[in-house]
Amino acid sequence: MSTDHDTIPFDEAVATFDPVLGLETHVELGTNSKMWCSCPTSFGADANTQVCPVCLGLPGSMPVVNGAAVESTIRMGLALNCSIAEWCRFARKNYFYPDMPKDYQISQYDEPLCFDGYLDVTVETDDGPREFRVEIERVHMEEDTGKLTHAGGATGRIHGADYSLVDYNRAGIPLIEIVTKPVVGAGSLAPQVARAYVTELRDLMRALGVSDVRMEEGSLRCDVNVSLAKPGEPWGTRSETKNVNSLRSVERAVHSEIERQAHVLLNGGRVVQETRHFHEDTGRSTSGRSKEQAEDYRYFPEPDLVPVAPSPEWVEELRGTLPENPSAKRARLRAEWGINDHEFQSIVNAGALDLVEETITAGVDQAAARKWWTGELTRVANDREIELVDLGVTPDHIARVEVLMAEGSLSDKLARQVFEGIIAGEGDVDAVVAGRGLAVVSDDSALLEAIDAALAEQPDVVEKIKGGKVQAAGAIVGAVMKATRGQADAAKVRTLLLERLGVEG
Ligand code: ADP
Ligand code: MG
Ligand code: ZN
Repeated sequence: MSTDHDTIPFDEAVATFDPVLGLETHVELGTNSKMWCSCPTSFGADANTQVCPVCLGLPGSMPVVNGAAVESTIRMGLALNCSIAEWCRFARKNYFYPDMPKDYQISQYDEPLCFDGYLDVTVETDDGPREFRVEIERVHMEEDTGKLTHAGGATGRIHGADYSLVDYNRAGIPLIEIVTKPVVGAGSLAPQVARAYVTELRDLMRALGVSDVRMEEGSLRCDVNVSLAKPGEPWGTRSETKNVNSLRSVERAVHSEIERQAHVLLNGGRVVQETRHFHEDTGRSTSGRSKEQAEDYRYFPEPDLVPVAPSPEWVEELRGTLPENPSAKRARLRAEWGINDHEFQSIVNAGALDLVEETITAGVDQAAARKWWTGELTRVANDREIELVDLGVTPDHIARVEVLMAEGSLSDKLARQVFEGIIAGEGDVDAVVAGRGLAVVSDDSALLEAIDAALAEQPDVVEKIKGGKVQAAGAIVGAVMKATRGQADAAKVRTLLLERLGVEG
């Protein structure tokens, strides 16, 4: 008997079947207030401190649409090459769940604000970069639900929990949902196309400033639909893996679902239309709720809100506020910086493009800007499993460090310690240098003192140097560096000690 976990190796699966993808992405908008009330939206506040009668769904309360959320949605729609509805309504999606105090969610149903767009994405293949056009079905507005915490069980899931807690701070935060049309023809690249799409979407939202898109805080969540069919046959039944929370997981969820469905189909089984849950630890999903019977949400137009009718003039005005499209920006920067594909890709992969650009604008030379962000700082961010932007290091910090390095008062090694201090919250560059006593010992008299001490300790080395073996100076330089706890400029020490011995360098 086959289990839910049996798979066919990926290469075999995509040799037999063509995958079809569908991505539904929810993004929390970065508005200051909620979708229908003026409650604040900041993350991490004490439970149920950012609530009011409207977002608690108390009887008699009335919603009012957040204009900034409509504006953000239209800008997102325009950036995704969508048409913008001249008139559309909200709809009530009725269902009962304790994270939704009204017992219905206000969403949009058959009248989305934005529709029929596309987003071009690029994936790296063995034969170089390949572009895919992902068509967008709709971009609509809705509201987030509250957050349930299931306590007392081993897994944090409702099964086995002793009790559940609910926090309504998130209830009513503006969400936009972006739904793709079925993505066909990606073949074995389907997992990468899915990831590239979500990455591009994230970059686009950041560029637009409509959301800070922190996946680890759940402000971008993705439902991943996958089906398989043999070439030329009608599309298969899709499964929908819910709430996939990281870019890497999006790729893995598609990959593992292709392997799982291929096994089902090759063994004469039938793919069931269902939701699935992805598990970060195993990289696999388990079956959730069956969707064989379409749920009846009894949608109807929301009677408490007026229709949204953006004027064409306003839409055009918003079009004028669109930033440079991220893919156009990448092409421009790659050309401006004149670096190769590989170097450029490592910046993009590190999520450092904007940071590198801002660092160059702050006056740092290009190679140094790239080196810090893709080297040391990426390593620290990876270690801590946070994003580069959350390290607390800014382009201005790097500019200041580079100035101090150019002056000779910081070495590369000391600069790393400065960043360590900034990340640890010890203040800005100058504060960390002062606080940790990091300035290079460049005062000649202090250096000469250390050099004389080292020379006195190693008379045999002194003889060698005087006898013409200049490379033996390394031992003295090493001793001086040790004595100054690494805070001397090694090249300078070398010059000074050769001068001291009257030897040409
Ligand atoms: P639901 O709310 O039931 O999940 P939606 O229409 O909101 O339905 O989203 C379904 C997603 O699945 C869309 O992105 C759509 O393009 C995609 N999709 C539709 N049919 C298939 C299929 N056969 N295989 C894969 N994806 C599909
Ligand atoms: Mg769905
Ligand atoms: Zn409220």
